[in-house]
Amino acid sequence: MPDEAYYASLGLSSILDKVLSGERLTFEDGLALFACPDLTAVGALAAHARFRRHGDAAFYVVNRQINYTNVCVNGCLFCAFRRDHEEEEGAFVLSREDILARLEAAQSGTLRLDEMHMVGGCHPRLGLAWFEDLLRTVSDRWPGLPLKAFTPVEIAHFAALEGISTLEVLRRLKACGLRMMPGGGAEIFDEGLRSRLCPHKADAAAWLRISGEAHSLGIVTNCTMLFGHLESHAMRVDHLLRLRAQQDASGGFTCFIPLPFLTANNRLELPEDRTGPVRGLDQLRTVAVSRLLLDNIPHIKAYWVMLGPKLAQTALWYGADDLDGTIVEERIGHMAGAESAQGLTIPELETMIRASGFRPVRRNAVFEPMPVSGPETTACGAAELRKETC
Ligand code: SF4
Repeated sequence: MPDEAYYASLGLSSILDKVLSGERLTFEDGLALFACPDLTAVGALAAHARFRRHGDAAFYVVNRQINYTNVCVNGCLFCAFRRDHEEEEGAFVLSREDILARLEAAQSGTLRLDEMHMVGGCHPRLGLAWFEDLLRTVSDRWPGLPLKAFTPVEIAHFAALEGISTLEVLRRLKACGLRMMPGGGAEIFDEGLRSRLCPHKADAAAWLRISGEAHSLGIVTNCTMLFGHLESHAMRVDHLLRLRAQQDASGGFTCFIPLPFLTANNRLELPEDRTGPVRGLDQLRTVAVSRLLLDNIPHIKAYWVMLGPKLAQTALWYGADDLDGTIVEERIGHMAGAESAQGLTIPELETMIRASGFRPVRRNAVFEPMPVSGPETTACGAAELRKETC
């Protein structure tokens, strides 16, 4: 039980009461949590909220990430992944066959994927029909594999390319098997900063509207926030509360993923006080405040690719309940300087979770618990996951 006198000394009495009684926190409460000098006191509140929802469960998914292209028309200032055109060094566009071969390799042997996660840049010429054909082919070949693909930014791009509404794009993709969308592209909603960082991509209102449209069709989605760049704490709290309001309205967000800004290979220069090891503490605090403010979003992810495995393990005690998954091949974070591995095996993920004091629960893309079967959790399964990396 938290020490009431101690929380009073921190000026957090009313927040403590609200957290213990399950009452909703306000904008000012969010600012107070970011300002609190004792990170562990904030973390303890978030841990309380996390244990109330999930007990000692910590989730992971056996997934295969596919980035189909990094050619993108948007040119966001913070993006290390994008290339402006196909001829530029480091640019890539996977063919339909490339993508199917990656999935084939990941599904070989005893291993069973529980999620295909596919996102990419906004390519100027890859039209909606190309993606419809790809999703249909994947659905036909692996009927039980949940397809999670396309951020609201990509949906807005497809709509602009085709001259149709975003709702129509979503309807067509759903008809081809799209079951879930990852939550990228939210970045930071504050209009002033967003227009400096990424003036050409879907704006905050469009991102939220498209998420709501997906929810209205039964496509569940994740949501994100890119933090640790030029934003203020007030902008973070504002971002989180806009997500909470959208969730009140449409109810389809499954998981929130706070994404720390990685500083390599981009055109955004940070002031000195925004760099350095202190960022790890800021990442834990942001996970914790997210858990406390987002009382209507079931899961908070500590994305091990961006946080690194050690901080992701620690984040399980600061409100996170999910580590993401095996991944196998990740390009977006690694092109921005992520030093984590390209993928983790099932035994590695389960060991990470157990060593942190939690109980591993294998899930699929939409957070349905999956049975853990024998052979694929062994070193043999690990080898299969590692067969094909970039
Ligand atoms: S962040 Fe996304 S939309 Fe922006 S340039 Fe990079 S790939 Fe394109």
